[in-house]
Amino acid sequence: MTAQHIINSLEFARKSLEIRDTIAHSDLQRAKDLLTPETESLNWRLSGEVSADKKARLHLTLTGNAAVPCQRCLEPMLIALNISSEFILVKDESEVPPEEDDVEDHDYIVADAEMDVLQLVEDEILLALPYAPKHEINDCAVKAEVNELKAPNPFAALRDFKVVKS
Ligand SMILES: [Zn+2]
Repeated sequence: MTAQHIINSLEFARKSLEIRDTIAHSDLQRAKDLLTPETESLNWRLSGEVSADKKARLHLTLTGNAAVPCQRCLEPMLIALNISSEFILVKDESEVPPEEDDVEDHDYIVADAEMDVLQLVEDEILLALPYAPKHEINDCAVKAEVNELKAPNPFAALRDFKVVKS
């Protein structure tokens, strides 16, 4: 079981602190069911700094192989995660500039004296996972059944049914 990492985010940035740890599949809360047990331990690193423009920032990097079920054959497929995210700490939501003024498209986090780092790590994993991942067709276990999957879809049949009914 991975240790909890609760930080005071502003202090973490001001003191240029750093945490390195790994997170295992079994430690994930929200992403757990989206991933298969072949998921490796993911290495992450959080560091803080106050940049030249006096903004408190957090950097999160995460690397490792996550395994997700292929949406065609349901066999696991490995996704190499290589996340590098940066967040600017703000006191409250009102400090977040309107989207049109934020040309560089920064990510903001409201500073928290008790920030749960693993929640942030998990948010980033969720964002990095592909939507409806599928193996390349030549690598997929259902390659031979592809023609079968192209059978008329049930909605087409439903449309016909409606026509008859009216
Ligand atoms: Zn597949």
